[in-house]
Amino acid sequence: MAMLSVDNLAVNYGVITAVKGVSFEINEGEIVSLIGANGAGKTTILKTISGLLKPVSGTITYEGKQIQKEKAPKIVAQGISQVPEGRHIFPGLTVKENLQMGAFLQSNHQQISDTFGEIYKRFPILKQRENQDAATLSGGEQQMLAMGRALMSKPKLILLDEPSMGLAPIFINEIFDIIKAIQEQGTTVLLIEQNAKKALSIADRGYVLASGEVKLTGTGQELLANADVQKAYLGG
Ligand code: ATP
Repeated sequence: MAMLSVDNLAVNYGVITAVKGVSFEINEGEIVSLIGANGAGKTTILKTISGLLKPVSGTITYEGKQIQKEKAPKIVAQGISQVPEGRHIFPGLTVKENLQMGAFLQSNHQQISDTFGEIYKRFPILKQRENQDAATLSGGEQQMLAMGRALMSKPKLILLDEPSMGLAPIFINEIFDIIKAIQEQGTTVLLIEQNAKKALSIADRGYVLASGEVKLTGTGQELLANADVQKAYLGG
């Protein structure tokens, strides 16, 4: 059984239909990537999984249970955590305080302290900067902070919305290496990216979305080799 199964999902913004009957699944341990142009519906799907939007129809089944009607904090509590597009770190708070926000559902101090240790090990730069205002971090460091904050809730499934957006090439490579490392340490990943080439090269499987629908699916390697995908999303 899939860890997460999205079936016939439809989501509207008022009269605008953003997602029209999308189905896909994620198996435990995979990196699954959704690719597609601006406006294809990727962010809307992520926000619906994390409970920030409600679908007009369709179901989202996580670990055998339908979650599409549940509120966002309850979904986080069940092990799904989202890193939003544009990072949304809290300026005016330190790096450490930003990370603490990610542990808002946890009350065991020893466990929180252990998780801090794990995050600082994975992102040494955050440890170095722990007492700095988060707004003073570079774009790449802010992305690491946003990922670290999501990992503070110890998710089983992490949803990443455009993690490489706006980053310098050196940071882009580092972010993709980190995503791979997150998978290797046992967290399942749903990755949304404009950078289809990078995303598909680390993904086990991918889905190509256009106009709110799934147009194509395959392994990351199959999609990278697909002529239509190359033409539309990989610059020929
Ligand atoms: P992007 O890469 O720009 O985030 P996307 O694939 O994630 O693109 P969505 O942001 O999910 O696409 O948008 C899907 C559709 O829904 C688009 O047509 C978009 O204009 C529309 N849409 C998104 N957010 C809203 C909103 N708050 N109100 C109305 N329409 C919206």
